[in-house]
Amino acid sequence: MPRPTASLLRPFTEPSRFRSLPCRQFTPRRAQAMTSQVAVAAAVAGIGALAYLKFTSATAPPDAHSEGKSPVARGANFTTPFGFRTLKLHSTEQLNHNTKRLRFELPDPTQPSGLTLTSALLSLSFPNGGWIPVPRPYTPTNKLGKSGFVDLTVKLYPGGKASTHLHSLKAGDTCKFAPLPKQFAWTPNQHEHVALIAGGAGITPMYQLLHGILDNPSDHTRITLVWGVNTDDDLFFHNEFTALEKKFPGRFKAEYVVSQPTGGSSYRKGYVNKAILEELGLRASETHNQDIKVLVCGPPAMEKALKGGKGPFGGSGILSELGYAKSQIVGF
Ligand SMILES: Cc1cc2nc3c(=O)[nH]c(=O)nc-3n(C[C@H](O)[C@H](O)[C@H](O)COP(=O)(O)OP(=O)(O)OC[C@H]3O[C@@H](n4cnc5c(N)ncnc54)[C@H](O)[C@@H]3O)c2cc1C
Repeated sequence: MPRPTASLLRPFTEPSRFRSLPCRQFTPRRAQAMTSQVAVAAAVAGIGALAYLKFTSATAPPDAHSEGKSPVARGANFTTPFGFRTLKLHSTEQLNHNTKRLRFELPDPTQPSGLTLTSALLSLSFPNGGWIPVPRPYTPTNKLGKSGFVDLTVKLYPGGKASTHLHSLKAGDTCKFAPLPKQFAWTPNQHEHVALIAGGAGITPMYQLLHGILDNPSDHTRITLVWGVNTDDDLFFHNEFTALEKKFPGRFKAEYVVSQPTGGSSYRKGYVNKAILEELGLRASETHNQDIKVLVCGPPAMEKALKGGKGPFGGSGILSELGYAKSQIVGF
């Protein structure tokens, strides 16, 4: 018997503090898993850092095109897979009540970051001048082909170690970053349509991917974005998404679902559920979804409701009820 929709949505009745948390963290089990992943990545990146330092000091060629500046090594940005780079904060922009965009300068200002879709960076910060490093992954949200900088869009969690530290940085301050192994490599035109379903700060990998697709003239993938947030104030990229909808009519569509909308809110009310996804034409059997991939990034409760729980008794999720096979679904 299919699980009733109400029971699938029960996780969303948790306090909003939990609903608004980003992807892959905050259930103790998940936090633990992420911590060990991050620890391994940090160890790998740390070993790489030594090689990187050796590499930069040994091979830095004279930079004929930037007279008067320090020479820059090939691979000074994130073109080599290992090692931390120390990046200087160029500027910040407050995007809404709890989210900032931080622009960091790349070591080689003449080159792009070297990151490709869909990449994340591991930040290593030392909050309050302490000695214990705090590693946390963040997803670059600048156009990856742009030279000289990398942007991170960071949501502030009250008491959150890394996010509080990153929000406190001033122009000229530095932070260390290493590239993380990819969880999903994007191949242009592999699918006719992608549905990107994000919850809260889970928008950042979707933002990176949708820009990467739409900026590539030879990628014709159609994109439906569904972004669930707690309040209207949690939305910050929507003006940009509206402009993209106008620029790419019939190719890009963004929908917002707000669980606690303000009076007069123009967005869909509630949580990202089966009825809303059906209304948006996201049932797998629809003819325009024959070749579709569904990407999900959100707080654990949202991901569980959409993808189903783990193990034989985890239950099916909304996406399975909409007819999607497991192979069509990717979690970031
Ligand atoms: C691949 C990936 C990419 C990401 N990209 C982004 C991004 O682009 N932007 C972004 O903002 N975030 C992103 N994140 C999340 C980010 O890595 C951090 O987890 C987030 O910034 C919180 O870190 P923190 O150190 O500030 O908070 P923490 O110190 O880890 O704590 C955060 C909050 O949760 C509470 N908390 C901590 N542990 C638990 C627990 N076990 N149970 C319940 N509550 C708990 C704390 O009290 C605090 O209020 C990404 C995560 C992943 C895995």
